[in-house]
Amino acid sequence: MIDLHSHTTESDGTFSPQELVSAAHHLGLDALAITDHDTFSGYEQAKPFADGLGLNLLCGIEISTALGNPKTKTVHVLGYFLNGGPADEFRDWVLQMQGARRDRNERLAVRLRSLGLDIHIEEVNAIGRSMAGRPHFARLLVQKGYCSSIQDSFAKYLDESAPGYVDRDEPSLEEAIQRVAGGGGISSLAHPIRLGKRNHAEEDELIGQIAGWGLRAIEVYHSDQTAADSARYLELARKYGLLVTGGSDFHGGNKPSIQLGTGFKGNLNISKDLLGAMMA
Ligand code: AMP
Ligand code: ZN
Ligand code: FE
Ligand code: FE
Repeated sequence: MIDLHSHTTESDGTFSPQELVSAAHHLGLDALAITDHDTFSGYEQAKPFADGLGLNLLCGIEISTALGNPKTKTVHVLGYFLNGGPADEFRDWVLQMQGARRDRNERLAVRLRSLGLDIHIEEVNAIGRSMAGRPHFARLLVQKGYCSSIQDSFAKYLDESAPGYVDRDEPSLEEAIQRVAGGGGISSLAHPIRLGKRNHAEEDELIGQIAGWGLRAIEVYHSDQTAADSARYLELARKYGLLVTGGSDFHGGNKPSIQLGTGFKGNLNISKDLLGAMMA
């Protein structure tokens, strides 16, 4: 069993890189990819521990991208760098995205204060480490008693439709696919179920269009996807010549219903054979 989608405390997970590697080792995973949002920091810290335990740890990243111009939706893309990490050019590009995120976070703190909430960027950065994001704002809003839960924080202040929301510069989906390829990686369309297409024909058409932009893989297996969803995405992978990836999207206590490796209520058991195809 493998898991190619997971988050550490370096983005919005609650397991440190070391804790995540231990958990994967105890579970007996054949391979784990760390795919933090906009950072390689978790992977880099985890790598020596993984090597020490003999765990096959893969270098990944998850990027938020804009679909459509003007943007109609945020789409997540995974990048996998299987032979020795990304090229410097790609790392520089990731640094630029981190800058855009920090800028957004500062504006978000100002906006929340304008709504009467005592929220400061330093407090958010203290919990968010290298890559603070909205989940960390959400936790702070709960800690300070403004909201009853993370969900409540998003609903009241942080969701795209909520009064605290501020936009952030995101690369286009096309650019992200090209950058991953340019950096020597394999791009995969994360959790395609979240494209939110009402009918299968529209979903097929959109995925075909994205494949035409150079997408290399699709996340057929994911905690949010049913067996029927996976079967459908497997068909589309064949139709458009895409590799197949899968992972739990483990976030530790930030998404407590999702287990490393086995997903939501045991709905995942991803074969290590997928990795062979990716390496080839
Ligand atoms: P950011 O990248 O900082 O804008 O934060 C996006 C992250 O916030 C996503 O990856 C989710 O983990 C989380 N998120 C977004 N919307 C919600 C929501 N409605 N409830 C809980 N978490 C959310
Ligand atoms: Zn996340
Ligand atoms: Fe995602
Ligand atoms: Fe994720």
